[in-house]
This record gives sequence, structure tokens and C-alpha cells, in this order.
Amino acid sequence: MKLKIKRFMFTTHLLLESSSTVAMNSLAAEKKARGERVYNLSAGEPELPAHPAVAAAAMKAIYAGKTLYPPVAGIPELRAAAADWMNKTYNTAYEIKNTLVTCGGKFGIFSIIQAFVKPSEEVIIISPYWVSYPAIVQLFGANPVFVNTTEQDNWKINLEKLKSAITPKTKMLIINNGSNPTGVLYSRAELQGILRLAAEHNFLVLSDEVYSGLAYEGDYISAGSFLEFSDRVIVVQSCSKNFAMTGWRVGLVFGPEPAIKILTAIQSQSTTGTSSISQWAALSAIQNADEIMPWVKKAMQERRDIFIDTFNNLFGANLKKPAAGLYSFFPLTALGIADKDSVGFCQRALEKCGVALVPGAAFGAEGYVRAAFGANPEELKEALQSLKKFCV
Ligand code: PLP
Repeated sequence: MKLKIKRFMFTTHLLLESSSTVAMNSLAAEKKARGERVYNLSAGEPELPAHPAVAAAAMKAIYAGKTLYPPVAGIPELRAAAADWMNKTYNTAYEIKNTLVTCGGKFGIFSIIQAFVKPSEEVIIISPYWVSYPAIVQLFGANPVFVNTTEQDNWKINLEKLKSAITPKTKMLIINNGSNPTGVLYSRAELQGILRLAAEHNFLVLSDEVYSGLAYEGDYISAGSFLEFSDRVIVVQSCSKNFAMTGWRVGLVFGPEPAIKILTAIQSQSTTGTSSISQWAALSAIQNADEIMPWVKKAMQERRDIFIDTFNNLFGANLKKPAAGLYSFFPLTALGIADKDSVGFCQRALEKCGVALVPGAAFGAEGYVRAAFGANPEELKEALQSLKKFCV
């Protein structure tokens, strides 16, 4: 008798949403692979070649046989250099025991939320937000609580709004100083007010500082520099944007020693640590920070200026230059589009004129779109010209 076997159906109990920015980037890559012209303004990366000091260190590590499993928390040389770099650059007081190397800043954020937020607890997220914050919070059964900001307020939260979002279930606030997508930079006084509130209401602050090196207007203030609050602050850093090393996947977490120990235990049962070759490359990047960071920043600032100036000329718009980061976040009305459906617009733009953008809806701001300006200047100009033809 023939056995009747059912096909196995995969479903997940997880509340899981793929990242819209990664999805848009993949769609653009597929279109490109089919031989179509694509202007990819979706991925947030400084498109620069590996700095020679980074490339040489990686090659050296390979040929020196530094290719076995790395220590789970990161190679001690990198942890020590990273702590030192933070202390010198951002006035923090970290030691090696406060420092963890992760698979990109993203896994740092993922494991921090996994470790410290229980199901049904609340995480305050400032909107517009980086797409992965609410998705990760929900993945672990916790609830995102959004505090809205507006373009009229320069996308900044005020303490009153923040206070009204706090409940007995609040466990964490995520602050993205040097924001993706809005480019907002917080001042020392603003950060102090936020951290004081966190201490009064006893919640954690995850400070995502991956764009710290791309602050174009004024000094960058790290939440880690407020030593009186260091028991409740975890800083996430990365080599991706500051050192133009997105593909190497090296992130860093700085925080109290007990937190680092817990996060290390998670890594020991998950990633086993970051690629040893990438870590030696990252060490060289950090050792050459004085040269590499200004190199990346200068290139990105030039691209920001070209993008905004070209945009304003072509569309007769008045977009402001973002104070930090890699993105322009603008309303569809700046393109002369009255319809607020950002998802529909981005789909049509990719289809009809090959320009990949990310819909504002993915960041919690319908009616807006995000364009990354990390690509080379010619690409940026051509993308905007193509978009202009599509929008007329
Ligand atoms: N945080 C923000 C705000 C980001 O925009 C990104 C990447 O786009 C990350 C964290 C994670 O970066 P990575 O995992 O490449 O270090």
C-alpha cells in the first residue's frame, strides 16, 4: 500500500518582519542582475573601497593563519583599542571588560534586547525610527511604544512627550543619536535630560551611535560620556559607517561589565563571535582612526551636499542638509507628489525609473521617503535626474 506522506509546511510562531531597507536593496540588486539600470539609494552604506590599512591587515591575518575561532567576546587587541578609541574620541571611560565585539551593530542591538527586555515589557522608540528597532522588540515578545516627532520640531523629542510614554512596564529607551533616517543630533543638555529621566524611572538606555563619525554639524556627544549614568547606558557602535566597512560585519557594544558578560554568553551560544579576519581588519581601522574617519566623513559630507543641492535645483525644493548620517528623509510633496502612499511610490519609482528608495512608512512616517547618499556623486546626480523625469 502506498504511504500517504504530507508535505512539510514551514510556518513560524515568531512575529517576524523582514527589514524593508534590506528588502529594497535586494529588489534593486535583482533588477541590476537582470541587466537593468538601477540607481540604488536604498542601502545606507558609504560606498568607498576598503582603506589600504584595512585591506592590508585582513590579508596579513589570513596569511599569518589567524583564521581559527576567535575569542567569543572579540580579540583582546581589538577590545582594548576600541575602548581606548571611545575614551579618546567621545570622553567615555571604558575598559576591555566593558567592551564586546559583535557581528555588526545590528547583532549587538538584537542581543541587548533579547537579554534585557522580557516579553510584555515596553521599549520606547522615537519615531521616525530605524526599521529594525520595533521588529526586534516584537520578535522577543515585548512591546514597542512610539514617541512621535515631526519635521516642524526638527524630528526631536521633548521631555514632556517622553514622560508621557513611560509606564511601569517601561524597560528600555532606544535613542539613535545621529539618527537613521532623520539625521538628528542631540546636544549634551538634551541627552542629560533624557538620561536623568531614565534614572528617575529606572529604565535602561540603548544608545545607538553607529553614525557618530558622520556628524557634520557640531560635536558628537556619546551617551557613554555621562559617567554618572553609566550603570544604565549601553552604547552600540560599529565599523560599518564610521570606517566604511559595512561588509566586514564588525560591531561593538560598550556597557557595564555584568551586561557584557551576559551578551558574551549569548554570543557563545549563537555567533561564536565575529570573523577573526574582520576583527584584525577592524583593529587596523581603529588604530588608523585619525586618518580613516575624516576620510569617510569628508566623502560623505560632499555627497550629502551634492545630493541636497542637486535635489533642490531639480525639484525647486528646500530640503535641509541633515546634521548627521547618510540619509535625506523628505516628504513626497518635495517631489511634487501629493499622494501620501510611500510604499506605492517607491515601488513605482524602482519599476519605472530604476531608483531604489525606502518608503517612509517603514520608519513610521507615511508620506515620506528615505534616500541614502552614500553612493558616488555621479550615481547620485543621475538617480535624481531619472527621478525628476519620472515625477514630472
Ligand atoms: N543602527 C542603525 C541606526 C543603522 O542604520 C544600522 C545599519 O543600517 C545599524 C545600527 C547596524 O549597522 P551594522 O550592523 O552594519 O553595524
